[in-house]
Amino acid sequence: MLRFYRTPPVLPWLFPKVWWRRPVTDKTIFLTFDDGPIPVVTPFVLEQLAAFNAKATFFCVGENLERHPDVAEQVLAEGHVLANHTQQHVKAWQYMPAEYLHQVSQCQAVLEKIGAKHTSKKLFRPPHGQLTWRHLRMLAPEYQVVMWSTLTYDFDASLAPEKCLDKAISITGPGSVVVLHDSLKAERNLRYVLPRFLRHFSELGYSFKTL
Ligand SMILES: [Zn+2]
Repeated sequence: MLRFYRTPPVLPWLFPKVWWRRPVTDKTIFLTFDDGPIPVVTPFVLEQLAAFNAKATFFCVGENLERHPDVAEQVLAEGHVLANHTQQHVKAWQYMPAEYLHQVSQCQAVLEKIGAKHTSKKLFRPPHGQLTWRHLRMLAPEYQVVMWSTLTYDFDASLAPEKCLDKAISITGPGSVVVLHDSLKAERNLRYVLPRFLRHFSELGYSFKTL
């Protein structure tokens, strides 16, 4: 299987309004966790982040927020950001823009009910990174679309955790937006990679902030 750990440079060029990495003047990394919140795995992430005084952004599935509001509230209480990953983790290529926007709005309503705050624009990450120009145009007035610069493939069970970690470390630096998953599929790799990744970059003087 071909894995694109690093974002192919043509994508930021094609979609300049999307966030791929963030401009920084210091050693800051932006960790993001997709597909939660769920019991056990999300609390594990919170525990690891707390141990390194790290903050992160969680792109949540609306249905998971509704099932596990207590976990979502814990994420907020610990100073992290909850953001939008559609209501049911749907693929843009299978939804017309208007229906897709409805999925995003539904998730946003759940986020706001739980008390999630956003800055000037609401942060949104499309599931599977799927997007089209038409979808982006529809989302753009209200949402800041966030992709990534480091994809860890933690969700890929055929990938050895050691390799997942090495790869993630080798392509991450100041301003990187790193994708991990608080999901059952990713749990095995996540449990290996996250504490080691945090330790590695903390020892190099990096800090971890929300988007
Ligand atoms: Zn996802």
